[in-house]
Amino acid sequence: MATEGHAAVAVAGAARRRVLFFPLPFQGHISPMFHLAGVLHARGFAVTVFYPDFFNAPDPSRHPAFDFVPVPDGRVGRGDGDGAGGDYLQATMASILALNRRCEAPFWQRLAALLESSGGDVACLVADAHLLTLMDVARRLGVPALALRTGSAASFRIFAAQPMLRDEGYLPARESELDAPVTVLPPAPYRVRDVTMTAGVGGHAQEQIYEIMSRAVAAVKTSSGLILNTFHALESAELAALRRDFDVPVFDVGPLHKLSPAGPAASLLRQDRGCLEWLDAQSPASVLYVSFGSIASMNAAELVETAWGIANSGHPFLWVLRPDLVRGGAAQQAAAVGLPDGFDTATRGRGAVVSWAPQDEVLAHRAVGGFWTHCGWNSTLESVCAGVPMLLRPCFGDQPGNARYAEHVWRVGLTLDTDGGGELERGKVESAIRRLMEGEDGAGMRRRAGELKSGAAECIAMAGSSCLSIDKLVNHILSL
Ligand code: UDP
Repeated sequence: MATEGHAAVAVAGAARRRVLFFPLPFQGHISPMFHLAGVLHARGFAVTVFYPDFFNAPDPSRHPAFDFVPVPDGRVGRGDGDGAGGDYLQATMASILALNRRCEAPFWQRLAALLESSGGDVACLVADAHLLTLMDVARRLGVPALALRTGSAASFRIFAAQPMLRDEGYLPARESELDAPVTVLPPAPYRVRDVTMTAGVGGHAQEQIYEIMSRAVAAVKTSSGLILNTFHALESAELAALRRDFDVPVFDVGPLHKLSPAGPAASLLRQDRGCLEWLDAQSPASVLYVSFGSIASMNAAELVETAWGIANSGHPFLWVLRPDLVRGGAAQQAAAVGLPDGFDTATRGRGAVVSWAPQDEVLAHRAVGGFWTHCGWNSTLESVCAGVPMLLRPCFGDQPGNARYAEHVWRVGLTLDTDGGGELERGKVESAIRRLMEGEDGAGMRRRAGELKSGAAECIAMAGSSCLSIDKLVNHILSL
């Protein structure tokens, strides 16, 4: 596997050892886990990936260097997690808890069988921090477990601070105080709405999110180490705070997609690579890339406002319209039926709409000048590492906090004004796109994003902080 940094030197001793991986089966969690597996494989470790056999199962044939063990999950799906209602986000939360429960016994059996047949070469398990139950299984079978958190260091501080935020009276959030500053997590520029993690979800899902966050904190506290897909130049203060507050070693090894590009192999959906050719024909930094990740959704009215805002801005665009992006739309057909009449004609010759893009490559393309994003951590990191400024429209979970950092700390993004109500309006979309793509503000953000891109490159270069962190991680694994 090709690597861009210098983290690929095999370490003596690693060749005999095997690292087990268990990703959470969502795109934003699978990609960094496979990237990490690629990095450790390049250092000489054998890799075995456990995965739920039904829910977003990876295709082993696309990763010939790794071994795979399917774990029956009782057919958990995003729409049918235990207790899930009709709401997509709530169903996602329910499925995380269901996976932990349903995979516990089968994972025990498969791990025990592997340990029996492996001749003692298993060094550790690296599991997603949302898989506490499975990390416990590993420990009970004598396998040390490390946690990979696929979000930012700052967002994990929010997870850990939930009890304190409740004690201090910030949470549960009162509607009238959503914009009040949170002063207890310096240097984070948060308001109350950014630390609730429950924006846009109802009562039952709020409790589920709270449970999911406290389980992730417990997973890290009981782990043999915390691995984070971030880098020192981006989050030095937040990493220092985690090292102070957690009694486990912390490894900042990001940006992982730059160290081990898994490309299409880790993508759950088929990427439309034709859009790269379309980008080839566009002028430098002229195209707005629009994508809301793999989970966020919008209603039909928001889709219409988004479409006309993009059209009226006059800028070339590449828009990822996932088949399930529109809530309540018939999956598969939503993209076809959702775009307003006249949109095609209004944008002819200057737009491309795809159902899934090779995002990493799109953002690195010279034609892309801005990214309208939902602020998922992978998207944020990928944008920063490509030097692309962002139009920010966070939806839920860690996304509002990521947006705050992008706008107020790194100053590489501009939040789309939705009057706090979350509703999109075409005029505001149009002027925000113009500010990002044309104005002085946009130029400043692009310059600062370029600086962060250089910072990321230094971190993954030989003797850079992420490269050294990977060295430490390798030695740590060998010492367990
Ligand atoms: N992604 C992609 N093609 C797309 C849209 C998204 O490959 O058309 C990838 C993107 O590069 C990122 C991941 O999907 O790595 C989304 O993760 P993120 O944390 O940004 O958001 P989530 O989907 O978890 O909300």
